[in-house]
Amino acid sequence: MKYDIIIIGAGPGGIFAAYELMQHSPELKVAVFEAGHALDKRHCPIDGDKVKSCIGCKSCSIMSGFGGAGAFSDGKYNITNDFGGTLHEYIGKKRALELMHYVDEINTRYGGSGTKLYSTAGTRFKTLCIQNDLHLLDASVRHLGTDINYVVLENIYAHLKDKVTFFFDTPVLSVAKAEDGYNVICKDAVYSCDKCIMSVGRIGSKWMETVCRELEIPTKSNRVDIGVRVELPASVFAHLTDELYESKIVYRTEKYGDKVRTFCMNPKGAVVNENTNGIITVNGHSYEDPARQTENTNFALLVAKHFSEPFKDSNGYGESIARLSNMLGGGVIVQRFGDLIRGRRSTPKRMEEAFITPTLNATPGDLSLVLPKRILDGIIEMIYALDKVAPGTANDDTLLYGVEVKFYNMEVEVNESLESRYKDLYVIGDGSGITHSLSHASASGVHVARNILGI
Ligand SMILES: Cc1cc2nc3c(=O)[nH]c(=O)nc-3n(C[C@H](O)[C@H](O)[C@H](O)COP(=O)(O)OP(=O)(O)OC[C@H]3O[C@@H](n4cnc5c(N)ncnc54)[C@H](O)[C@@H]3O)c2cc1C
Repeated sequence: MKYDIIIIGAGPGGIFAAYELMQHSPELKVAVFEAGHALDKRHCPIDGDKVKSCIGCKSCSIMSGFGGAGAFSDGKYNITNDFGGTLHEYIGKKRALELMHYVDEINTRYGGSGTKLYSTAGTRFKTLCIQNDLHLLDASVRHLGTDINYVVLENIYAHLKDKVTFFFDTPVLSVAKAEDGYNVICKDAVYSCDKCIMSVGRIGSKWMETVCRELEIPTKSNRVDIGVRVELPASVFAHLTDELYESKIVYRTEKYGDKVRTFCMNPKGAVVNENTNGIITVNGHSYEDPARQTENTNFALLVAKHFSEPFKDSNGYGESIARLSNMLGGGVIVQRFGDLIRGRRSTPKRMEEAFITPTLNATPGDLSLVLPKRILDGIIEMIYALDKVAPGTANDDTLLYGVEVKFYNMEVEVNESLESRYKDLYVIGDGSGITHSLSHASASGVHVARNILGI
């Protein structure tokens, strides 16, 4: 079977590449190969009742399938070059922002029109933060919410399904250079194409490593972010989240000079498990629909760990820490901030006595047995710093779930067209190591499509 273009991965990167190709050249023969299920078949078995924690499905419906890792995400599309990836370093700041706005237009057209675009521009919180040694980053953020995000994906799929050939539950095993293009090798068949776009996301990081090794495409890897997910009553952060929805706040620790940052804030949201290659970590999301909201807000506090030579396996380091929490807690561990500060584990009894109801059924335990001291010290310092702009953050009952690990795919060497050292072989989205967010991954898909089309 021969295609003009094969896209590997149906996350935001792959979807937006397919969308843009079809907008301008519907005559192109495009196929999308996706290891996970079609959108309507994606269901995480955890129901909090019969299935309480991750059972390690063959294909994780949270991370894989049409919509990629973003399908059940909070659908926060941050329009900024300040975080979410370094796409602007390849394509320029202006173009990166233009493409993120373009993606936002499409999302609003396909179901997100009633959602709100928040902005940090001109906010009084910037001053409040700086007065307390905290730094609020600039961004606009469209919050689709988990429910509307799903609707947008449904609508985009309905638009694409008769134009593009989708192969679901079809992992690509490898990609090989052919005489006139590429061979995309699956379990039961080999498909060929003139051009190939690899958009395999975070879950495809190991796969991407193998492909790069086989094709001798240079890569580099030196970063992992490690931390916890904080959950507290929504009222503690309401003054910030009502106005900004998501605030990205950075703090430099006094003790080590490390940067700790808030990440993925979910007002009135829920904490969830995340399964990356069998390792259970924590994440969060929230719904736009008030009926599905909770009384808690959650966000991550992450410390970036950069390694220098000779150590290269930054993700391996993050995985080892996550495995330790999985070993002790059978999955994610939860601890009250008060217990952590007093040097004792949280127990089921202490959790029951708390004035907050956790939204994730995690194992009460002791995060100080899991997280390296330097990282834990940074998180504690940041919690006290945040307490100054959001009093109540450092309350005893504030919950810390661990661990949250933000794995960064190794960065694949590509040019300004996101093309690898092989002509017509592109690497986009989180799988390229260049993007780490919905908006940057989507924008990278549009960018590559336009380069292929020469527009
Ligand atoms: C719970 C959760 C919440 C999040 N919330 C937000 C948020 O609010 N805002 C934000 O900006 N970001 C968020 N993120 C991150 C965001 O989802 C990702 O940055 C984004 O999805 C990256 O898009 P992508 O297309 O590069 O990769 P992905 O979305 O990861 O998609 C890659 C796809 O490729 C498929 N694939 C992998 N390997 C193969 C293979 N060999 N063959 C075939 N298919 C393959 C995978 O199954 C997957 O479906 C969240 C992530 C999670 C898990």
